Amino acid sequence: MSNLQTIDKQYVANTYARFPVEIASGKGSVLIDTDGKEYIDMGSGIAVTSFGQGDEVWLKAVTEQLGKVQHTSNLYYTEPCAKLAQLLCEKTGMKKVFFGNSGAEANECAIKVARKYAQDKKGAEYSTVITLENSFHGRTLTTLSATGQEHYHELFNPLTPGFVHTPANDFEALQELALKEKTAGIMMEIVQGEGGVIALDADFVKAVAAFCKKQDIVLVIDEVQTGNGRTGAMYAYMHYGIEPDVVTTAKGLGGGLPIGAALLGEKVENVLGFGDHGSTFGGNPVCCAGAVSIVERLNEDFLKQVKAKSEKIFTALQGASGVKSVSGLGLMIGIETEKSAKDVVAECMANGVLCLTAKTKVRLLPPLNIPEDKLDKAIEIIKTACAV
Ligand SMILES: *Cc1c(COP(=O)(O)O)cnc(C)c1O
Repeated sequence: MSNLQTIDKQYVANTYARFPVEIASGKGSVLIDTDGKEYIDMGSGIAVTSFGQGDEVWLKAVTEQLGKVQHTSNLYYTEPCAKLAQLLCEKTGMKKVFFGNSGAEANECAIKVARKYAQDKKGAEYSTVITLENSFHGRTLTTLSATGQEHYHELFNPLTPGFVHTPANDFEALQELALKEKTAGIMMEIVQGEGGVIALDADFVKAVAAFCKKQDIVLVIDEVQTGNGRTGAMYAYMHYGIEPDVVTTAKGLGGGLPIGAALLGEKVENVLGFGDHGSTFGGNPVCCAGAVSIVERLNEDFLKQVKAKSEKIFTALQGASGVKSVSGLGLMIGIETEKSAKDVVAECMANGVLCLTAKTKVRLLPPLNIPEDKLDKAIEIIKTACAV
């Protein structure tokens, strides 16, 4: 084992099963290890580096901001923060944005908003938040409680009360539960990412949205992974023509720097007042400047290219040897393989392609602007690794 791996194992908390790869640098959709071996990046640091490594537009935005002022706290106005909030609202029709540093933090804000809205409007007992089975909403104790997967819960009881889970795509069950509970909010991912890259049924999504409107329940769409162009739309909910009350996002928003955002719609835009919520690093000017440079480029033309690349992957892999099914939306793709996902990922890695897993599937989350030649090469290597 190398010196780096020895030191890491000794001193970094033991929470990640790392692959035996030491990344030294990267450019675009290519990562380079400490031996100089190149890998095509089909994971984007888990859907984070939307435009790859060292993207010039992003790098210029970030470094220019670094040269001006790197942090101010939220006691003062800074241009990147205001500009990013304006851009996000203009692109979504949402009204206000709260900035934090991660997906979990964005979801924490959404949960607070849902509870406060319901408390103001219906009474303090309206605090239940419904989420779906097999969902993933984060690792803080409250977002863990929201996460509908038992195995994340077991070690950390007692959890935050007020969360109940219901099966995805069963509207009747959700409706029954929501009417039985004193429901403040319903939170769901459009494509369950960590749960295995599974898109919800359009009919279910629309029915839940209509139900929330009718019952005045806060609808939160968790777009931490699906957001910012990943699925071929600015946000994945836009595929279904619904109007969420809160949209949370993070991962790809900053292009590689930590940022999270809760986008608040008209119904809830003024639920939080002075002092109700905060985050020291939230709205950091460097992170926001980088995010502006990402969000600005997510136009129709670019999203069309994301969809075309997605189709290329689906077409190449569907029906290929050793591939049982391909799921997902846009450049968020799950491959159910005959071999174990772990073996496929290891073989891809040996041949210079970095993929991820989600549950029992191989998961692909390439940079949104991955060049065609790199994508073609990665697809061939993945196909070969899946083949039986
Ligand atoms: C990754 C993820 C989160 C958690 O985001 P962090 O930035 O790790 O806190 C929440 N929800 C979804 C859907 C995610 O994919």
